[in-house]
Amino acid sequence: MDYDFNKWMSDYRVISTVGLNEEGGLDRLAFTDYDFAARTELLNRAYGLRLQCYLDAAENLWFSKPGTDPDLPPLLIGSHLDTVPNGGKYDGVLGVMAGFQVMRYLVDNKISHRRTVEMVAFSCEESSRFNLSTIGSKLACGFTTPEKLKNYKDSQGHTPVEFLARLRYSPESLEERREHLKNIYGFIELHIEQGPVLESAGTDIGIVESIAAPIRLKLDIIGHTDHSGACPMDLRHDALTAAAALITEIERLGREESVNKSVATVGKINVPHQALNVVPGRCEIFVDIRGIRRDSMERIRDGMRNFVCGLEKERGVKVEETLLSDESPVPLDHSLGEIIERNCRKTGLSCRWMPSGAGHDAMNVAKLAPTAMIFIPCVGGVSHSLLENVLEKDLRNSIRILYEVVMDICG
Ligand SMILES: [Zn+2]
Repeated sequence: MDYDFNKWMSDYRVISTVGLNEEGGLDRLAFTDYDFAARTELLNRAYGLRLQCYLDAAENLWFSKPGTDPDLPPLLIGSHLDTVPNGGKYDGVLGVMAGFQVMRYLVDNKISHRRTVEMVAFSCEESSRFNLSTIGSKLACGFTTPEKLKNYKDSQGHTPVEFLARLRYSPESLEERREHLKNIYGFIELHIEQGPVLESAGTDIGIVESIAAPIRLKLDIIGHTDHSGACPMDLRHDALTAAAALITEIERLGREESVNKSVATVGKINVPHQALNVVPGRCEIFVDIRGIRRDSMERIRDGMRNFVCGLEKERGVKVEETLLSDESPVPLDHSLGEIIERNCRKTGLSCRWMPSGAGHDAMNVAKLAPTAMIFIPCVGGVSHSLLENVLEKDLRNSIRILYEVVMDICG
């Protein structure tokens, strides 16, 4: 595959830096002017290649390069273009731009292929704006509706539906996308890893075997508020020290289940009415348990509940649990993964099978059609940050492996 990397890079720079802020991060939140501007840049380039372009009622952008055999179900590639606030230049965009380069290469070199190659840029993948992730792919797959989305609002009170309305949304058009996705050959999403595994192992490519899902809980620990000077140590019911013990136990349970690739995190803690001279009577912690095996995730949750029983007796506190979300891991298609593995071997790229700790559009499509994900190392595993970076060799590898896989399936 002989193409002009610098030309690709200059297109990449244009699209990936729409919404650049003063700090050097990207504020290309879903359905903002920046998001629409980035999509227009992509669309203009696709028109230039005479690709078939289609915008669905969920604001997902679809591109198609027909194969010579219209009876073969198409292969879909792609990812998303929106970012988190102050985000990086690679999350989502790399999958779209690597896909775009594959299509451009096919057009520029008049390469004929039997199977149609399609690409999608899903809308509103990040949950940062509306507290709900993968809205575009959820709509296209039929896992949510514009009706239900009216309940989600951004900090200004806008709902995602307002941005869909400008297309005179019709239920039929989304139903058509769902039917289409049910009939594709498969979907391959290329994405940066967003973690340190590939880089630290010195591996070129990750083949995702399963996408982890979260169980999220809020725990209210209720003790007794007291004067920090007047209340002796043996009479206290300190909610914060109870939380400390619980947080350490949750970490221990996560470590224990790390053999099954599960993780457990307390990333948020609130101590209402906190003061230097007050024994905390109340504390809230937020627990995020993720894994690719449901039984392992449940062992962490059950272990945590057991510990809570002991904690309540031992420290005279009460713990109330609120379930925030409870999802199951999504296994990806093994045969598609094997095609990726075969092409890594063919091109001399090292690879390993691995779970995805983060959620992606692929987890929605995987429920309708065979789906795989290709992971590319990112520097230091850093993502959702303006420090997100990918080495040039890995950018080249991403285009290379995607091209080989597309030609293996469609050629
Ligand atoms: Zn992403």
